[in-house]
Amino acid sequence: MRGLWQFPTNLLARNRERSEALDSSAPKTIRPITNTPMRKPVIAGNWKMYKTVGDSVATALSLKPLVANANHCEVVIAPVFTALKSVADRLEGSNIKIAGQDCAPVAEEGAQTGEVAAFQLRDAGATYVIIGHSERRQFHGETDPVIRQKVEAALASGLQVILCVGESLEQRHRGIEVQVVASQLRGGLGGLTASDLDRIIVAYEPIWAIGTGTAATPEQAQEMHGLIRRAFAEKISEAGADQLRILYGGSVKADNIKSLMSGPDIDGVLVGGASLSAESFAQIVNYKE
Ligand code: PEP
Repeated sequence: MRGLWQFPTNLLARNRERSEALDSSAPKTIRPITNTPMRKPVIAGNWKMYKTVGDSVATALSLKPLVANANHCEVVIAPVFTALKSVADRLEGSNIKIAGQDCAPVAEEGAQTGEVAAFQLRDAGATYVIIGHSERRQFHGETDPVIRQKVEAALASGLQVILCVGESLEQRHRGIEVQVVASQLRGGLGGLTASDLDRIIVAYEPIWAIGTGTAATPEQAQEMHGLIRRAFAEKISEAGADQLRILYGGSVKADNIKSLMSGPDIDGVLVGGASLSAESFAQIVNYKE
């Protein structure tokens, strides 16, 4: 597994050319390695530190009938920790799955004031956990080694991981976005074996697109997703890469979901602000209608 997640140099060179051309309006394409229908899209809502328990349950109950026929994707919501069990209980039997927004870097219970372990998220009804969100990296000092420990703890506890990666605006302007994402993938996943990968979802979330109202263009998102998938293909196997779901996150709304989802390597979205209202999140989930 040594060297895993290092993007091949030819891809880096190609990306550098693209970075120089980022300001040009010409659409860019990158050859997808596959457009397999076997990857069921994931549409996940991250409620961050919003909503009381009552508001969370009310939103979840409003969402339930609105997405009841959404068989084309997995629907996931990530309420605040305190609301997780109440929401999970009320959604039991529905097609909406629950995610934690973070977990402790250790799998066992213990003297870790303020932490919530992955097994406790599972116990409360979560099947997914978001790890390495840029807000945790930026505001809570999370480093790649800590993120890797969290990924390992989550996998050991039977959760599926949504690992967030993404560059800042300054890093994109410097043309090093591919190196940044490669390094985050290496840092977060480098110690894992290929057999762990079917429980990993990667969410590419450029920081400059999160909460800004300026989403990446479908071409920018597809380009990075294609690079991520190709790195997996070259370092593990085409088959493994084919199965990997790569979500896009950053200012996804009802009016841009369709174009973003048209990218062959875009297997769903992670939504912040627009997931807080049941109606707007349902519009995103039901983007095909
Ligand atoms: C996020 O925080 O993961 C996110 C994508 O937020 P928003 O949709 O509000 O940009």
